[in-house]
Amino acid sequence: MINRRKTRRIRVGNVYVGGRAPVSVQSMTNTDTRDVRATIAQIRSLAREGCEIVRVAVPDEASVRAFRRIKSSSPIPVIADVHFHYRIAIACAKAGADGLRINPGNIGGEARTLEVLRAARSGGIPLRIGVNAGSLGKDILDRHGGPTSKALLESAARAVRLCEKARFRQVKFSLKASDVPTTVEAYRLFSKRFDYPLHIGVTEAGTVFSGTVKSSIGLGILLAEGIGDTLRVSITGPPEEEVRVGWQILKSLGLRERGPDFISCPTCGRVSIDVAGIAREVERRLSRMTVPLKVAVMGCSVNGPGEAREADVGVAGGRGEGLLFVRGKVIKKVREKEIVAEVVRIALRLAAEKERSR
Ligand code: SF4
Repeated sequence: MINRRKTRRIRVGNVYVGGRAPVSVQSMTNTDTRDVRATIAQIRSLAREGCEIVRVAVPDEASVRAFRRIKSSSPIPVIADVHFHYRIAIACAKAGADGLRINPGNIGGEARTLEVLRAARSGGIPLRIGVNAGSLGKDILDRHGGPTSKALLESAARAVRLCEKARFRQVKFSLKASDVPTTVEAYRLFSKRFDYPLHIGVTEAGTVFSGTVKSSIGLGILLAEGIGDTLRVSITGPPEEEVRVGWQILKSLGLRERGPDFISCPTCGRVSIDVAGIAREVERRLSRMTVPLKVAVMGCSVNGPGEAREADVGVAGGRGEGLLFVRGKVIKKVREKEIVAEVVRIALRLAAEKERSR
């Protein structure tokens, strides 16, 4: 059981972040923001995967105009991600953003950051102060000899002081580096000193493979220690993948439930059905399911019946066939080529029943 650290609660659109709110899943569009149609299509696709808050890059005036239209059609809260141009951040606050994300290392000093804070406050929207190892102030880098966890903390602590000076509390923080140990340590240090909600992530974590591994380790450590109120998995690839990985991390730690929880064995010399093919196909066919359900596909009678019995629906492989379990009971034997259809049919029925009884 994970004991989550208590943080202040803020609200991003209709999603609470911090306090007792569930850890939310975020992603970021990678379309050209000026292409309103493509950006909205991607946001809808992300929302279908379970993205709860989306961030959109707003690099120039044309993007601000597009942002206004994107925001009005988005099914989920939209945060404007602004670097360098504090006036654009202010324009996004006026354009109806559900939140702003700025980086204290590049928004242009204290006076300009304060102006952004005032714009957020008068717009009644929250801010994320995103400290990033790649863009720390020169004085901080010199003092710490590089982008260390303490350097990240110092940059965030400075921003905390500014927010408090402006009496602005609708703020969450992130302290990201591209390596796991620095990121984890920076968040630990911050959460010991402050109770602002934390957006956690390992930045620029790499391609689908390395990004998934780095993020799972980094976010997994933090979440297991109770740190983190909202997350973004960073992957060079389709942003939908970030959402899927984010959810899987939360599901693996028992922090959230969504859709099927798949159990399948790695197979070995005892396997006598195509576990990999069956598991892949079952997963594909149930990929749109949002009701939590445990689904097991196991290769033989060693661990198969045990796992299949514990699942809502499970199959334990035999020679060219499988023993089908539903909620702990053996239902019947099924021929191998019918396993996928049977498991999917039962899973959909159970999900519909669960949905009705909610
Ligand atoms: Fe091997 Fe059977 Fe275990 Fe699968 S369930 S890994 S086939 S022993």
